[in-house]
Amino acid sequence: MPTLIDNTEPRKKVAEGVEQSRAQATSPSTPQSLYAKHVKLYPKLAHGTFRNIKWLALFVLLGIYYITPWIRWDRGPGQPSQAVLVDFENARFYFFFIEIWPQEVYYITGLLILAALGLFLATSLFGRVWCGYACPQTIWTDLFIQVEKFFEGDRNARMRLDKAPWTTKKIFKKTSKHIVWLFIAMATGGAWILYFHDAPTVARDFLSGHAPMTSYIFVAIMTFTTYWLAGHMREQVCTYMCPWPRIQAAMIDEEALNVTYRYDRGEPRGAHKKGTTWDGRGDCIDCRQCVAVCPVGIDIRDGLQLECIGCSLCIDACDEIMVKIDRPKGLIAFDTDANVQRRMKGEKSRYNLIRPRTVIYAVLFAAVGVLMLYSLMNRVMLDMNVLRDRLPNYVTLSDGAVRNGYTIKVLNKSAEERNLVLTVEDLPSPNITVMGALDKQSTTLRVPADETRDFKIYVSESQLSNLDQKTDFNFKLEDMDTSETANARAIFISGGPK
Ligand code: SF4
Ligand code: SF4
Repeated sequence: MPTLIDNTEPRKKVAEGVEQSRAQATSPSTPQSLYAKHVKLYPKLAHGTFRNIKWLALFVLLGIYYITPWIRWDRGPGQPSQAVLVDFENARFYFFFIEIWPQEVYYITGLLILAALGLFLATSLFGRVWCGYACPQTIWTDLFIQVEKFFEGDRNARMRLDKAPWTTKKIFKKTSKHIVWLFIAMATGGAWILYFHDAPTVARDFLSGHAPMTSYIFVAIMTFTTYWLAGHMREQVCTYMCPWPRIQAAMIDEEALNVTYRYDRGEPRGAHKKGTTWDGRGDCIDCRQCVAVCPVGIDIRDGLQLECIGCSLCIDACDEIMVKIDRPKGLIAFDTDANVQRRMKGEKSRYNLIRPRTVIYAVLFAAVGVLMLYSLMNRVMLDMNVLRDRLPNYVTLSDGAVRNGYTIKVLNKSAEERNLVLTVEDLPSPNITVMGALDKQSTTLRVPADETRDFKIYVSESQLSNLDQKTDFNFKLEDMDTSETANARAIFISGGPK
């Protein structure tokens, strides 16, 4: 098993101004045991365009995560003022101007389908961009590595520190790192619970020790998982625990853009002496800087591998070397396997972003998106469900009329209290009695803003000769102020077994 911290051999000079890194890939191209022992990685800090994009992604995404629960959104009196809130207590999900009721859980399903299709599309176009730039495991690991670097230095300093005996300085550096890691992990868990209740209230109760025990348990679990996964497990989560590397293989074909070592240009590789020609050899000087910066410890020159998270840091590292040795950048670049093959045959590079699979994913993505948008824009704010009494099926009254009982559940999703008039359609001469209404003779139902109310309704019918044993009819609710209506079909039973 190769070791990544072998500092004993002298460094080889592989080109003018470039020394070979001692970094060894954790997944060499030669066959290895499936039960390989974990090798601790010391990724070197890369500099360049992709590292800068990763910094941007890190700040933006962490910012969104930590700041979102504090954003307020005025929904009127008595309504939660948190822009994004998962309110389990009242069975609601709030997302700015959207309020999802439990009956509308299909919106969440639609959102998940949309996210999955977006991921499929991005992967078939640009490989594992999600893993490299937006996955929470990548983001937090990146942050933890930067903290480690702040206290212990870059790659070589960290390796030296790990091999050095335990001195006060080493204890101070290691302890400081773990304290900051734990602080970040706790902030991560702390931010998580803010999404489930009014954030300022939760923060105040939590800090004063008055929050429910479940809050403390959740924060403890999130703190431990963040600290452990980002601080200790790191690339092992991506390699062994995450199913996405296996699934994404189905979305990638030879025309998908991936972080690619252009072996048509790089091989045969080897050290280069100043003043000698580049003819008859490749541009790769075997400096292993691409391996040294890799957060999963692989050698991209072995080809696309399951472990590669597509972070592109090896592109930055190699570009820096290419500048030093005065060769064109892009020996490692976003490219396709098909292009490498084309160039080897003397053909020109060609990018086929529009392929059957990308078109299918894009069309499905757009279709689900439009459907969701249409459904949200035409969302009903007044709804009604009807449940007919089973026992007894019907009651014959002293005047010969037949009465059926129903429970009506009215959903008022608006921010205003509603006065609703209940009527029955498709029965010849219905008589409606509403139990529990302010005026028992009235068919006006009052439902407060953003609430669900149940009403016990009796419908009696005297003109039985016009009815079948089971007659289908309609309950209609109409808002007296807005004329908005809701309808629900029901059955009226006028004969047969009671
Ligand atoms: S091989 Fe390159 S793109 Fe893949 S994980 Fe390593 S550094 Fe990132
Ligand atoms: S691909 Fe680039 S960074 Fe990697 S060993 Fe070759 S020259 Fe060095």
